[in-house]
Amino acid sequence: MSLDLAVIRAQFPALHQQVNGEPLVYLDNAASSQVCRASIEAVRTFEEQDKSNVHRGVHTLAQRATSAMEAGREQVARFLGARSSDEIVFTRGTTEAINLVAGTLGQSFVEGDEVLITHMEHHSNIVPWQLLARQRGIVLKVAPIDDRGVLDLAALVGLIGPRTRLVSVVQTSNTLGTRNPVAEIVRAAHDAGVPVLLDGAQAAPHEAVDVAALGCDFYAFSGHKVCGPTGIGVLYGRRELLAELPPWQGGGDMIERVSFQGTTFAEPPARFEAGTPNISGIIGLGAACDYLRGVGFDAIAQWEAELLDAATQVLQAVPGLRMIGTAPDKASVCSFVLEGAPAADIGTLLDMQGVAVRAGHHCTEPLMERLGVPATARASFAFYNTMDDVEALGRGLHKVRKILG
Ligand code: PLP
Repeated sequence: MSLDLAVIRAQFPALHQQVNGEPLVYLDNAASSQVCRASIEAVRTFEEQDKSNVHRGVHTLAQRATSAMEAGREQVARFLGARSSDEIVFTRGTTEAINLVAGTLGQSFVEGDEVLITHMEHHSNIVPWQLLARQRGIVLKVAPIDDRGVLDLAALVGLIGPRTRLVSVVQTSNTLGTRNPVAEIVRAAHDAGVPVLLDGAQAAPHEAVDVAALGCDFYAFSGHKVCGPTGIGVLYGRRELLAELPPWQGGGDMIERVSFQGTTFAEPPARFEAGTPNISGIIGLGAACDYLRGVGFDAIAQWEAELLDAATQVLQAVPGLRMIGTAPDKASVCSFVLEGAPAADIGTLLDMQGVAVRAGHHCTEPLMERLGVPATARASFAFYNTMDDVEALGRGLHKVRKILG
């Protein structure tokens, strides 16, 4: 079940380059993973041979484009364990998927209704609800976390009340790596008759997702984090729920019939996909999903756990370094602060050594405030990273320590 890293790395052309005179060590996977060859080639085939618009054409290229795009929907449905590809709505990414739920389901919310999130959400699962609060007077409830970055599940369950209309939580924190107990959250919410949206942006790259088994009502993730293209993402919606939602954006493809007297709307998923979709993105995402399933999430999870253990040890050996996010159940994300070293300087000094990490608030400002740090440096690992990458990070940080004193 172990991974052949040489074979895997050969599938990622961008990994094989020098940056600032050093071999690239790419540890910014939580922001964006590299794209696999299968995805690059699927996009190239479409652009070189099948480029056409979808759904409305009778000619051969239009039919080929439509089949390839709908095959992408099937591939994504299998990737998520959805019962039907009709449950897969394509969006620009996780952010747009969450906004779609806020702009459809959210339109039935009234003043005083509540949306329950956690303190570790990405801005994309905070701001859409704040906009809804402005428009409709809903109330945003926030479940607390402890100092390690572990969600207080009992407190979250206690916040589910008669006015709760949606529980919307991150499955895996992009800043902390914390893996939340989403099955328990879904169970508790459903016991109270409340639907659940899972932000799977950081879970989908690392573990097999099974939305049918989880029973969640909505699931969002982004193509660019699962070895696919940018500008494409997914909203999974349980079929019965999608069928009840009103349209979001209006335009071509989302209608059944249009007249000036009135318009009727297509069934899901077309109802939520106004305009020409990101056809090449969908095709590239489908190929990436198949590629990841082929590698196998058991092997991916096992290797990433080894990388996380090794990286945690290497980081803790750097004088003055403090890990941010020490939950017992973590994905391969390591956030840290280094005494006397601003996060941005750490990022820049590591880049000079070819090591790519992210520095900043990671679009989780409320979380940063809760943990009392303005920013962190973050090394995030993918299954194609090696133990040499972990060592390069350690060497790089010891150098940073020397330079900054
Ligand atoms: N949610 C989480 C947990 C994320 O990590 C990210 C991106 O970093 C997002 C949402 C937003 O994803 P996107 O920018 O692809 O819409």
